[in-house]
Amino acid sequence: MVKVVKKGLVLELLPDDEMAGILEQNMGNARFIWNQLLSQYNRLRKQFQFHGYPLNANIRNFNMMLKMLKVEFPFLREGESTSQQQVFRDQVQAFNRFFKYGNGYPKFKSRRNPKQSFRIQKNGNNIRVTNKRIRLAKIGYVHYHTSKEYRKLLKNSKINNVTVKRENGKYYAVVNITTNVEELEKTGENIGIDLGFKKLAILSNGKEIEQLDIKKEEEMIKKYQKKLSRKEYMSENYKKVLKTYHKWLNKRNNKIKDKYHKISKKLVTNYDIISMENLNVKGMFKNKKWSPKLQRINLYKLVRMIKYKAEWYGKKFVQINRFYPSSQTCNRCGYQYKDLTLEMRKWTCPLCGITHHRDINAAKNILKEGKKLIS
Ligand SMILES: [Zn+2]
Repeated sequence: MVKVVKKGLVLELLPDDEMAGILEQNMGNARFIWNQLLSQYNRLRKQFQFHGYPLNANIRNFNMMLKMLKVEFPFLREGESTSQQQVFRDQVQAFNRFFKYGNGYPKFKSRRNPKQSFRIQKNGNNIRVTNKRIRLAKIGYVHYHTSKEYRKLLKNSKINNVTVKRENGKYYAVVNITTNVEELEKTGENIGIDLGFKKLAILSNGKEIEQLDIKKEEEMIKKYQKKLSRKEYMSENYKKVLKTYHKWLNKRNNKIKDKYHKISKKLVTNYDIISMENLNVKGMFKNKKWSPKLQRINLYKLVRMIKYKAEWYGKKFVQINRFYPSSQTCNRCGYQYKDLTLEMRKWTCPLCGITHHRDINAAKNILKEGKKLIS
């Protein structure tokens, strides 16, 4: 069966200095608008509150504020307009996440943030991609570099929008397209996955996925971070070190991304049902040795990849409640062994006498529970 899906294709942009300047200008505008809208909204909200009224953060209000901004700052009228509208939509969404889902209050954006971006909505002919260049209205042609597979997809798909971003010293265009994918064949095999830290994951069939080896990259990142902190901000020396620092950051991030793409593709190819625990389980991120924040962000990325690939390729992905005692429960008889400690890698069920490998038993329970949730 063929499915219609959305995909984000990442192209590395190769702007010359002049074009890089134009891209920076557009990112600067997006940041400026974001910050201005936010401070206007904050001010109005306070005034409203003072008089006992709420102020909705909705599209209409923000659209009005953008119009006012353009009167106050005429240079904004020269910029790419769909990307400016995108900024207020993004901000409305950020407020929605704050009001509805308890996410953090939207923050001001700093020019020092190593990640900067702006997004252009497709509108008539304003985005065009040829074999070598991408043309963005009011910006011009930018050379890019990407895989053969992506070039083919770009040629044959409908483009929805483009996000131009700078990350760790490089420019990228993420082209969001609508395309068709062919579902993968069913294999009749299902799998439960227990995420760990010594091993990246243990599967219910006893297979293990090794942790990534990024020690070298991490070491170099730390080394150059230290060097950077001793240089004068944006001096020639600083810029030189920054380049090397970015190089190692990109190396590490690409290594992780490649590996996770491979793992997730393999899982959805081999299995029909993939069951995992919700993250934040068992205090697994409290391990200090593991640069916990990075580790957590990365695992969320892996889970997200498995999830969307399962959807694309017609497989089932299920996440079980994080309070389910997957390690303590005997997968054969269901007995719950409450005295199990973190140090016990093996345990014998006092009820049915079977000896468990801790993580494989957990993975088997995760699969069992996942199947229950699906049916
Ligand atoms: Zn048992």
